[in-house]
Amino acid sequence: MRAREFIPDVQRVLDDRVEPAYRLEQAYRALCSGLVRDWEEVSALPKSLRAALSAEVPAAVLELAHIWRANDGTRKYLFRTHDGDLIETVMIPERSRRTVCISTQVGCPMGCTFCATGTLGIKRSLNAREIAEQAFVVTRDIAPERLTNVVVMGMGEPFLNYNQTLLALKVLNDADGFSLAARSIAVSTSGLVDKIRRFADEPEQFHLAISLHTPFEKERKMIMPVASRYSIPELMSAAAYYVEHTRRKLFFEYTLLADVNDQQRHVEALAELLDHPLYHLNLLRFNWTDTGFVATSKSAAKKFLHYARELGLSATLRPSRGKDIEAACGQLAVRGLRGQPQRAAVPFAQSSPT
Ligand code: SF4
Repeated sequence: MRAREFIPDVQRVLDDRVEPAYRLEQAYRALCSGLVRDWEEVSALPKSLRAALSAEVPAAVLELAHIWRANDGTRKYLFRTHDGDLIETVMIPERSRRTVCISTQVGCPMGCTFCATGTLGIKRSLNAREIAEQAFVVTRDIAPERLTNVVVMGMGEPFLNYNQTLLALKVLNDADGFSLAARSIAVSTSGLVDKIRRFADEPEQFHLAISLHTPFEKERKMIMPVASRYSIPELMSAAAYYVEHTRRKLFFEYTLLADVNDQQRHVEALAELLDHPLYHLNLLRFNWTDTGFVATSKSAAKKFLHYARELGLSATLRPSRGKDIEAACGQLAVRGLRGQPQRAAVPFAQSSPT
């Protein structure tokens, strides 16, 4: 069933040739766990079928255009889609973990003012195959090491591309597919409350992170246009729904911006807002983008963390990775996309979510 949704084009070729039903599963496994990028690599399929598939449907939908390697081991991948769009993916090594950060859209319409991707606007959403294949390619690249985690925190707002993102994650989690534990997969949203509730009702145990960035309504509207559509009380009501229904930890992402959201009053308001045993505050230092914001100093970020913990918050300060290749959080902005015609970033607050 999953295979049929994931590779409908392969199914069509098999139907035309009146192939037995198990051929679809063989093709699906070859892509998801065999990580093949060329049908000729699939020896389980008869030669004539491999030739027919090669002629009609490509095994790889993304062309790997470039890999950058950072001093800390982080790698950034540039992919070109079949229609010439460019997207980026990041692999972050950390002790025994190998995490891939994948993209769900070409650009992003959310317009968060501190985010390089947000300055691009949106070109289009990726399909499930394009989303999942980023993890397949990275897995091939880092072999024999294994990918341990997938985070959907790259380019785009995943909940604006809900169905295709979910299908990709189900394939990554599928025991007959990529076979990664659901708890090793996390999605980050800028805060689309209706989709947070829908995600809470999904049967898979995927993790969720919500970008909060300030506990104050007025400030949030200034740095995140989505806040004009959904207020903080609406967001927190969806957050409460999520933890009540899943009993899973819920992460709140908070990028520290100097003199914007890094003061004592912010910690105190956060302590009230995030007063729940399943809420966790993830602090990040701002990574430079040409958006005019400045990073909170390391010492001020540590102070913020200590005060948050003193006030009873479960909180962590996450290290920045891959800064020298612009692969850190908020820095993904394919240079080739700049200047291309696409829909603008900021009007999300006045538009309808898809
Ligand atoms: S932070 Fe995320 S949601 Fe906001 S503009 Fe950047 S990619 Fe889009």
